[in-house]
Amino acid sequence: MKIDHIGVATNGIEEAANFYRDTLGLDVAEIEEVANQRVRVAMLPIGESRIELLEATSEDSPISKFLAKRGPGIHHIAVRVEDIRASLAELKQKGARLIDEEPRVGAGGCLVAFIHPSSAGGVLLELVQSREE
Ligand code: ZN
Repeated sequence: MKIDHIGVATNGIEEAANFYRDTLGLDVAEIEEVANQRVRVAMLPIGESRIELLEATSEDSPISKFLAKRGPGIHHIAVRVEDIRASLAELKQKGARLIDEEPRVGAGGCLVAFIHPSSAGGVLLELVQSREE
């Protein structure tokens, strides 16, 4: 397993990029809209991992709700797995509370699924399976 990315909730990708790109010196590799999660996503490669800046595209986006409750900051940690369905089945069998029983298509065409923070030490955990795997 590897850390695929760390998701950061922002009030706006452009505003957040002022720090991550212009101050910290990372590159914004791509910006895309993930309609089914009602977010815009910017991926900034850092080493073998990435920082994912998230911006809500509607009031009922999970990011809107997060920002209203906690403000901008770290939203989730994403772990790359080889077989997301097998990982979900294993986690479920071990008693973890799944937000997504079935993977859905996330940024970059990857398959993603979220694990509830109550099962992961207070951290929203995302499983990611790369498109090519
Ligand atoms: Zn993510």
